[in-house]
Amino acid sequence: MNEARIIPLRPRDRLFALVTVVLAVLLWPVAFVRRPGRAGEVAGGWALGMRFPAEDLTGLTEGARAAFVAARTEALWRHGQLIGLTSGYRDPAVQQRMFDEEVRRCGSAALARMLVLPPAESCHVRGVALDVRPYEGARWLEEHGARYDLYRMYDNEWWHFEYRPDRGGVPPRRRPHPGVGFVFEDGDRMRPGSWE
Ligand SMILES: [Zn+2]
Repeated sequence: MNEARIIPLRPRDRLFALVTVVLAVLLWPVAFVRRPGRAGEVAGGWALGMRFPAEDLTGLTEGARAAFVAARTEALWRHGQLIGLTSGYRDPAVQQRMFDEEVRRCGSAALARMLVLPPAESCHVRGVALDVRPYEGARWLEEHGARYDLYRMYDNEWWHFEYRPDRGGVPPRRRPHPGVGFVFEDGDRMRPGSWE
């Protein structure tokens, strides 16, 4: 799937958010019986699962998954904001297919990698990258994500976040697009040090 085609903000997202929050509130007592200490997380998880039935958190590292769940639990209960996962972990073969497709579409590897990285360089393959939706949810994560070691990485991808506990709460310098700092196919290297 081409990430650039993800649908941005739609008016009905507000309605979805409201319905999901109401569902989470209704499910809270049930969650409390099951997991008294984590009722908010469990009820929120159930409600978000109904809103984003296609999402798949498997393959994310334990840290990335825990950070994502904690962040979106806060977003839901504190600000009524939904955050869904469009794409998390990717199998190397899937990532390679995405990259090859993008190369075909753009006509060059150098252009393609501004949107999709090859498997060896992709944080999705390492299980620490998360593409989220909708746009409002991504904005929330951009504002509050540092508390969970989740950071937006690129100017051209509002949906792409990475789990970076090594940053100690300091946001990494945002790059214009993926692929900066890597060797291009023709051997031309971008400025060293631009890759963090
Ligand atoms: Zn991504």
